[in-house]
Amino acid sequence: MFRTKRRISKLFFLKRKRRRVSAAPSKHYLAHKESARTLVHERLSALNAFYNFAYNKVAIRDQKSRWGSCSTKKNLNFNYRIQFLPVHLIDYIVAHELCHLEEFNHGENFWKLVEKAIPRYRECQAELRKVRMQKGAGLQIF
Ligand SMILES: [Zn+2]
Repeated sequence: MFRTKRRISKLFFLKRKRRRVSAAPSKHYLAHKESARTLVHERLSALNAFYNFAYNKVAIRDQKSRWGSCSTKKNLNFNYRIQFLPVHLIDYIVAHELCHLEEFNHGENFWKLVEKAIPRYRECQAELRKVRMQKGAGLQIF
């Protein structure tokens, strides 16, 4: 009895802790996530006409430092701030995540795959390093 009770209270604590960590969505994110979704889907179909990879869900998130990610379940995530970038950088990010559906690492084969659609991907990486994401706001380019 005592053990069960303890386990329950521990689980409750973990749940509460997790909830406290995730902050309420920012107004900026809520105001811009749907336009980001439209743009991401448009660029995904354009680039995937070339790659033709299978993916599942596409999520638009307010991430602090990532432009995108790809899960082992073939779900794609993109930062809503992607829409404030010039289109060649959006295409690089979208192509990058699409290629992770095929190569789940940053090995030589992965970059060869990215290069097929984005031959100047190294220049895109350099440009992206000059972009900072602002909390509760868009981007800062320096
Ligand atoms: Zn990557």
